[in-house]
Amino acid sequence: MRLVLVGPPGAGKGTQAKFLAEHFAIPHISTGDIFRANLKAGTDLGNQAKAFMERGELVPDDLTNAMVRDRLNDSDAANGFLLDGWPRNVNQAEVLRQIMTEKKTPLNAALEFSLANEIIIERLSSRLTCRACGAPAEAKATKCPACAATDLYQREDDKPEVIARRLAVYEEQTAPIISFYKNEGLLVTIPANGSVAEITKQAISALDTAK
Ligand SMILES: [Zn+2]
Repeated sequence: MRLVLVGPPGAGKGTQAKFLAEHFAIPHISTGDIFRANLKAGTDLGNQAKAFMERGELVPDDLTNAMVRDRLNDSDAANGFLLDGWPRNVNQAEVLRQIMTEKKTPLNAALEFSLANEIIIERLSSRLTCRACGAPAEAKATKCPACAATDLYQREDDKPEVIARRLAVYEEQTAPIISFYKNEGLLVTIPANGSVAEITKQAISALDTAK
């Protein structure tokens, strides 16, 4: 199963990525992990990326794309993968199509988690974060579910006006990817408003049908 995940912040994409990767026995590949691995190993690409980060600049697409290409050539991705956080725009989606064409292993699906903006804002803005360990907690919680610390606060990122801005950025940059995969006949859309287990189940059955 060669799979791309697409979804707005707050749709539970990271959690679903973990379960789906387990179910299909494929590596869960996120750009964050790829960056960290390249920086740690001191690869040529990692060092180039580091120079941009140290100057406080965004790592250019070309470098990120090259790191993803390398990662997809690793042996554990030979029988499939789940990409999370990349492609982030249509150019990157075209790079992925190119890589898959070269490898003669086309993508199976782009899985979109869809959730109404009002629900996302409500969900994220009612979330608290533990100051001690960073774990998320429910709005009514009085202590951290992970470490039991009692200092819970609302992250700047989770304030409604900031969330609305994050969603606008998501729509502007990522939504064109959804049209791209729709045109490619690869788009599978799952409503992300049930329980975690229900969403996983729906995603697996939709992917099995799409394959
Ligand atoms: Zn904690």
